[in-house]
Amino acid sequence: MKHFLHYLWTLPQNLLGLLLAWRYERCAQLLCVQRSARFPQVRIVTLDAAVDFSAISLGHYIIISDSYKDRQRIIRHEEGHCVQSDWLGPLYLLAVGLPSIVMFLMSGYNRRHGDGRFADRYYQRWPENQADRLGGVIRG
Ligand SMILES: [Zn+2]
Repeated sequence: MKHFLHYLWTLPQNLLGLLLAWRYERCAQLLCVQRSARFPQVRIVTLDAAVDFSAISLGHYIIISDSYKDRQRIIRHEEGHCVQSDWLGPLYLLAVGLPSIVMFLMSGYNRRHGDGRFADRYYQRWPENQADRLGGVIRG
């Protein structure tokens, strides 16, 4: 019952996570699904490295490309977003997901067309800095 209520509290992001995982499964681009060691309710969905994808945390689903060299650090960061999702529930997509995606897109633009300094500070801004802290990520 507690697990069900928790799933319901984070339902919008859970539905998006399920939909995204299903989409990649349908295209045969999903490599595997594993349970997070730190957060057993969270599933880590690994996509084929050829898929143009980074990583995203949607409720009980972390979807990540197999192309990452520093996979464990990215997973810890995404687990930090899972904690934010638990805290914020239905507000997560608006309060964390939206600013995170906007900053990600702006950073990509800055890296391609600017000096890259904005992009270099991506993890220093909220909500990324909090996700790092909650996930126990230390950046040099
Ligand atoms: Zn993030």
